[in-house]
Amino acid sequence: LIGQKAEKEGYKAYAIGGFARDLILGLQNFDIDIVVENNAIEFAEKLVKYLGGKLKTFPQFGTATLTLKDGNKIDFATARMEFYPFPAAMPEVEETTIKHDLYRRDFTINTLGFKLNSPVFGDFLDFFNGKVDLEKGIIRVLYNLSFVEDPTRILRAIRFESRYGFTIEEQTLGFLTNALENNMLAQVKPKRILEELKLILSEKNGLLSMNRSIELGILEGIFGEISNKKLLIRALEETKVHINLYKKKEIKVDNEFLIYVQVILSFCNEAKQKEFLTGLQLDKSQLEDFDFFFNNYQETLQSLKNPRYFSASEIVETLQGYKKESMIVLLALSFNSTVHKRILLYVKEFSNIDIEVTGEDLKKMGLQPGPVFSDIIKKLRKEKIDNNLSSKEEELLWVRS
Ligand code: ATP
Repeated sequence: LIGQKAEKEGYKAYAIGGFARDLILGLQNFDIDIVVENNAIEFAEKLVKYLGGKLKTFPQFGTATLTLKDGNKIDFATARMEFYPFPAAMPEVEETTIKHDLYRRDFTINTLGFKLNSPVFGDFLDFFNGKVDLEKGIIRVLYNLSFVEDPTRILRAIRFESRYGFTIEEQTLGFLTNALENNMLAQVKPKRILEELKLILSEKNGLLSMNRSIELGILEGIFGEISNKKLLIRALEETKVHINLYKKKEIKVDNEFLIYVQVILSFCNEAKQKEFLTGLQLDKSQLEDFDFFFNNYQETLQSLKNPRYFSASEIVETLQGYKKESMIVLLALSFNSTVHKRILLYVKEFSNIDIEVTGEDLKKMGLQPGPVFSDIIKKLRKEKIDNNLSSKEEELLWVRS
């Protein structure tokens, strides 16, 4: 239908990128990108009258998104060539033909497409040997300065590598390493880096990409010096294990991505922690939690390391300021140690202990509300955690005594 409409209205329309790539790989991809010569917005405006649905246009980028009545989305972009006034800057857009449009893309495997116009519907486009690379499982850039022009492609490369089990082609790997050595990633805004990291970590094989990023020095290119790379890999794996354990127990985990970032930042210096915390654009409560975590976690882990006996209530006192997401980070940072066991005890047993006696009960016992109340409640809670008061009666007895 899109092809027929394009032909009728005098546009050329192409289905490009991930949709074409995954179609050839035999994989499902409902994310349809249409490139239009010469004006995607105009064409999408005509199409919406014909197909119905809701259209959102972005004139500054020459793009539009059509949400169909069934909820599926189609993205339209005007065929374009991007000029980068200086490396790592946002692109400026100029209209041009489909081949130029495809040349500015990240990898050959993403330059495949189908011409939708009838009567040539389905004409296959492969200007840069993308199909051969797709068959061989190779990630290859289109030109030498690709990673310099857009360093986020470094992260896209390792994402596709792990997703499809592909390999970055040798020369491309050389360009990638070169861009890293020239510190290109440090010039990208944290917000953009974090968006790419989020995509990586939401992949099934996300941790494979993370390992690769550590191996190639990508993570250091982003976050500066990492205090212990092997430990970081291990901590990220542990994070996944604990997130899954929480989920298995049907404990809701908010924003998994933030937990991974928190783990990574624990291995970075303070300046980078601050820079990336700003880039995360956290809400007030998340920011408070992050602040609390980074101000206290080292001391917490250090104090729990002490081999002396810790009573249950002492463990609770040490850990009770952390939110459950931060608790996953602490678990991930302390695997296989006494500290880890103590945190697990807290998570599994102590953190759920709550007293049944209420303020009303205390009033009935003739006590006056005031600071004494909270003091009694605090002491009662400690007693319950340490001595296992097992019923409300036992709690009341303890208060009386
Ligand atoms: P996914 O399956 O993860 O959605 P995709 O290839 O569809 O992968 P998108 O991020 O939706 O990825 O991008 C659509 C297309 O735009 C890609 O196929 C690629 O050709 C191009 N593209 C995206 N980001 C870049 C970039 N940083 N540099 C060059 N081309 C890019």
